[in-house]
Amino acid sequence: MKYVVVTGGVVSGLGKGVTASSIGVVLKACGLRVTSIKIDPYLNTDAGTMSPFEHGEVFVLDDGGEVDLDLGNYERFLDVRLTRDNNITTGKIYQSVLDKERRGDYLGKTVQVVPHITDAIKNWIESVSVIPVDGKEGPADVCVIELGGTVGDIESMPFIEALRQLYFSLGQDNFCLIHVSLIPVLGVVGEQKTKPTQHSVRELRALGLTPHFLACRSAEPLLEGTKQKLSQFCHVSIGNILNIHDVPNIWHIPLLLQNQNAHDAILKQLDLINVATPPNLQ
Ligand code: ADP
Repeated sequence: MKYVVVTGGVVSGLGKGVTASSIGVVLKACGLRVTSIKIDPYLNTDAGTMSPFEHGEVFVLDDGGEVDLDLGNYERFLDVRLTRDNNITTGKIYQSVLDKERRGDYLGKTVQVVPHITDAIKNWIESVSVIPVDGKEGPADVCVIELGGTVGDIESMPFIEALRQLYFSLGQDNFCLIHVSLIPVLGVVGEQKTKPTQHSVRELRALGLTPHFLACRSAEPLLEGTKQKLSQFCHVSIGNILNIHDVPNIWHIPLLLQNQNAHDAILKQLDLINVATPPNLQ
């Protein structure tokens, strides 16, 4: 199994979900089978008890799972049927660890965030990613994992640590980290600002993860000089800096990615270039 992990920096509501679904669409268009997992680092077990005014509408899956609305994006974009286990929350992870602790499964050990919570996260990801969701037999080729929240939040720390360990155990060819970040423009100066992205990449690197790609949300397409600055200061090659500027309709984003040959670069990172076919998005 190959993993594409999407994290976010600077602010929430950047478009991580839409970016992750669109990457899935482009990989699917290259002939690969794609599944997805959404991680929500909140303590609620699921989105069913959360106010839609605060959190957005609850999406109900075929198995009755009440989940984050991003799962709806994944189902629509990728034409898959996900299960409630494709939505991991801090609440579900802690509940499973505490249930095991009460059963005595840890055999007298002190139960801790590291390694017990992080191990539970890794095991959950590895077991859910192989469940077929596209009506075909056998596991998918690629699992897109979206980590909700913003890098640096206390809530997401155990997930970042679990993903770092997963990366280390899977190796370079099986893991692709895409960091979605914001490139604001200051009204008076009119310049695309890279500093917030530099800081959020530094935060991610301090936690042991270096992004392979930057997906930059901006009002207008990125200027060449902005890309060069990002590349130099964020340690990401210029060809791996993706431009996801504002579009009138989110269904344009897979095409936006395809036009930048994002699929080629992602397939190279995952060592899938010989398996995939050229994408056929219109
Ligand atoms: P996150 O997962 O980071 O919280 P979402 O993927 O839910 O963010 O997107 C937040 C909002 O921004 C959604 O309403 C989505 O339609 C919109 N959005 C995302 N990307 C773009 C884009 N490139 N252009 C315009 N709107 C976008």
